[in-house]
Amino acid sequence: MYKRVAERKRNKQYDCLHKASHLIAHQLAERAVVIGDLSQRQMVIKKQEEETPKEREKRQRRNRMVYNDWGLYGFVQMLTYKCLRFGKELSIIDEHDTTRMCHVCKHKQDMPLWIRTYRCTNCGLVMDRDENSAVHIYQRFVARLGPHR
Ligand SMILES: [Zn+2]
Repeated sequence: MYKRVAERKRNKQYDCLHKASHLIAHQLAERAVVIGDLSQRQMVIKKQEEETPKEREKRQRRNRMVYNDWGLYGFVQMLTYKCLRFGKELSIIDEHDTTRMCHVCKHKQDMPLWIRTYRCTNCGLVMDRDENSAVHIYQRFVARLGPHR
């Protein structure tokens, strides 16, 4: 029973990721698709030189969680394939500091995960943390197209 439920869950998730990547790559009119170089890589724990069995178990369990359950890795692969197929340019942009920094005045402040809204203490910007981050990624993409690349 557990196996059946788990499989159904996986199929459902796959279907969602499939639809989302298809929508982005095929339906949207924009020529370029820009994504952040996902925090997934920061979330995966790297292997330490000398790890205890306990640390090893923790690392493996968490990495499995990030890759399997969360499915982002598969999503990026799907998106890459579909963009290629539908002739879109896919850019993966460094995401470093995009959450901490205000996209208007570039002021930096700490943003623990539980704070969902960015309230800039410098210029007063109030914005959803993910939207602020997305604007940054977009700005970085546009800057790359400029003459200073
Ligand atoms: Zn600001």
